[in-house]
Amino acid sequence: MPSKALPPGLHPDTLAQRTAVAPSQYGENSEALFLTSGYVQPNAETAARRFAGEEDGYTYGRYGNPTVSSFEQRLAALEGAQASIGTASGMSAILMMCMGLLQAGDHVLCSRSMFGSTIKLIGSDLAKFGVESTFVSQTDLGAWRDAIRPNTRLLFAETPTNPLTEVCDIQALADLAHNAGALFAVDNCFATPSLQRPMALGADIVMHSGTKYLDGQGRVMAGALCASEALVTEKFLPVLKSAGMSLAPFNAWVVLKGLETLDLRMRAQSANAQALATWLESHPAVARVYYPGLASHPQHALALRQMSGVGGALLSFELKAADAQQARRRAFHVLDALQTLSLCTNLGDTKTLAAHPASTSHGRLTEPQRLAAGISQGLVRVSVGLEHVPDMQADLSRGLDTAQGLA
Ligand SMILES: *Cc1c(COP(=O)(O)O)cnc(C)c1O
Repeated sequence: MPSKALPPGLHPDTLAQRTAVAPSQYGENSEALFLTSGYVQPNAETAARRFAGEEDGYTYGRYGNPTVSSFEQRLAALEGAQASIGTASGMSAILMMCMGLLQAGDHVLCSRSMFGSTIKLIGSDLAKFGVESTFVSQTDLGAWRDAIRPNTRLLFAETPTNPLTEVCDIQALADLAHNAGALFAVDNCFATPSLQRPMALGADIVMHSGTKYLDGQGRVMAGALCASEALVTEKFLPVLKSAGMSLAPFNAWVVLKGLETLDLRMRAQSANAQALATWLESHPAVARVYYPGLASHPQHALALRQMSGVGGALLSFELKAADAQQARRRAFHVLDALQTLSLCTNLGDTKTLAAHPASTSHGRLTEPQRLAAGISQGLVRVSVGLEHVPDMQADLSRGLDTAQGLA
């Protein structure tokens, strides 16, 4: 579907409001939600050309939808990508990327600090189909270089990572991948195009879970890949057509509208996260705070350079404890004492969400995989929202101020 005609050179703030497919004959100002699985064809010849991919036009809901196209065009504009393809979830975007780019015998190189389900999908599920993988330290460029093999087709990193907010150097990894004849993909869930545009730093593919900050209010599941027109049409669209990880139009409409406020939300939530991280760092029950905006963060300078000077809206902190059992009890105590904030494993909501990664998002990992990713039993993750910061502090204080009295 053709996009709405816009003058060239518009700022991302403008593109976030204006990029979409052309409006219908009714001239709706807010983008329409097209709930239809089929499309009436003007004549049989046109239908044949559309199904053959010789002419633009919608044919069937699994292959495309105008509301989904609006989301894809707007996200691509924000990421500075030629094209984008929507998917049912973030994980289905990763599955689409792997199905489109890899075959048995190929090798994928990833950070070992990736999202738990990503490690499971690439390390275990794809291994059943003969795809090899290696997981290396997120921040050790030498380890990435040493792990490259002649059959390495894809490097995949997430930055900052979940939940330890480790930051990798996008440009350096892109160079490494390209020198090896491989592609480089970045999971940009945490920074979003508002804070970080990996393609401008050399990444070939940007992957999103739209479920997180793109929606921004924790309503729907969605995902997307952004890439060159060639990758999207030649590698990813055929997988969508045959495997059907299609983004539902309603969910596309929600994330499309979410993109309009993305930049405002990311900056306000990052400011709240910075304030909360600074406060947590001085709390006596807290051993360590992981937040890229803190000077104590090991990749602080790189993070600010890569993320337009802001640390993002997600932080984690580690409770002081004598051993793993005590650490787990104290973490559960802090979470169970919450009265305002949500005990919820999602992230990217305007409501502040707190979670225990070791027993939830990273619960399916084996103990060695979990420890390699640095997820201890005393770790609490906070996806910082838009509540008043003193109210967040008061709620966390309930458990933090009494945690050290626990056995
Ligand atoms: C949530 C998440 C995913 C997976 O996305 P879903 O929409 O839940 O499938 C992938 N990567 C990161 C960093 C995430 O936070």
